[in-house]
Amino acid sequence: MLHPIDVADDLMTEVKHSYAAANIDTLPITMERGNGAYVYDSEGKSYIDMLTGIAVLNFGHGHPRLVQALKQQADTLAVMPRIFENKPLNALLKKACTLCHMDQGLPINGGVEAVETAIKLIRKWAYTVKNIAEDQAEIITCDDSFHGRTVTAISMSTVAKYKAHFGPLTPGMTSIPFNDIEAFKRSINKNTAAFLVEPIQGEAGVIIPDAGYLKQCEKLCKENNVLFILDEIQTGLGRTGKNFAMEHENLNPDGILLGKALGGGLLPISLFLGKSHLMGVIQPGEHGSTLGGNPLASAVAHEALNLLIEENLAEHAANLGDYFLAQLKTIKSNAILAVRGKGLFIALDINTAIISSNEVVKRLVAAGLLSLNTRNKSIRLLPPLNITKDEIDQAFMIIKKVFAEW
Ligand SMILES: *Cc1c(COP(=O)(O)O)cnc(C)c1O
Repeated sequence: MLHPIDVADDLMTEVKHSYAAANIDTLPITMERGNGAYVYDSEGKSYIDMLTGIAVLNFGHGHPRLVQALKQQADTLAVMPRIFENKPLNALLKKACTLCHMDQGLPINGGVEAVETAIKLIRKWAYTVKNIAEDQAEIITCDDSFHGRTVTAISMSTVAKYKAHFGPLTPGMTSIPFNDIEAFKRSINKNTAAFLVEPIQGEAGVIIPDAGYLKQCEKLCKENNVLFILDEIQTGLGRTGKNFAMEHENLNPDGILLGKALGGGLLPISLFLGKSHLMGVIQPGEHGSTLGGNPLASAVAHEALNLLIEENLAEHAANLGDYFLAQLKTIKSNAILAVRGKGLFIALDINTAIISSNEVVKRLVAAGLLSLNTRNKSIRLLPPLNITKDEIDQAFMIIKKVFAEW
């Protein structure tokens, strides 16, 4: 018999205040159950989920095929270090490489681990292939980007709150304005190893670059022997209306990072995928992760990629995204400064002189919709990609009603 997880309400409060570190600001609502595009709290109230674990639940809550893949693999073989071959991992890597037009992949667990992995391979490539002087390699990233929370990842961030008192930070990072090709041109020098960029900035508030910007970046990279690396941890797996955001401009990067939804909304798994000239630099024993590429996570990720294709989720996201965006643009409210998005990757900029974005999120929660406060200036709407048109209509009515107040 399993021990029941039965925590009294007052204990939940106690847990929050005395056992959980305060790194996250939690709302006093306990979510208990999820099904498709809906979650239910401990009182039985339902919410349309447009927070989706922060762009993790592209397949919705509890997709039966993903749950089946999880259970089946858990009953078969969950963990086996890569000292031995395992079939789910090989199947996953083949599928992921084929879909992304990459040659090889390195499996790890969370998004930021894929970022760390990319940086290590980029640096080794810089010294052993490009012949940059040891310890001089530079990686160019963009202002307001988000690549995770490790010390090295925050070293690439321009957000003060993410970095304050966490130094000393990792050197070798240069940040330039996003969507500014001249700034990129100026920043390249003989020590530039790579340009690491989100094709659409997620945490910054769904910031979509001008058409052609990324293609020009790719061209500059090729001309200057600089690696072009896309962080698709948030934009990947159908979110923006293509399987991967790079497909909007037919980009041909040297490497791509996947995470978040790759685990099917069930568990953590991430991948750094790249072309052989980059991936080939890593040798046995130089990098790894205890649980990286475990059969359990690999089996679920493999099925997630199958679902992405078989259920045409990218196309669905493109169509419903256009529809939802057009609807949202009809809302007349002084609290909305701008609405933008691509596929089901949508943000509303909030006029914080009228109402804080955090308060908007709370009002939406009270009205039955989960969204995400983004940098205290926008809210992000990230529905599951298999959400129905009816559910989008319901969500729209909730949003419209809440914003009618301002
Ligand atoms: C979420 C995210 C990460 C970090 O992923 P974690 O799983 O939280 O470590 C990195 N890059 C991008 C673009 C992300 O959206």
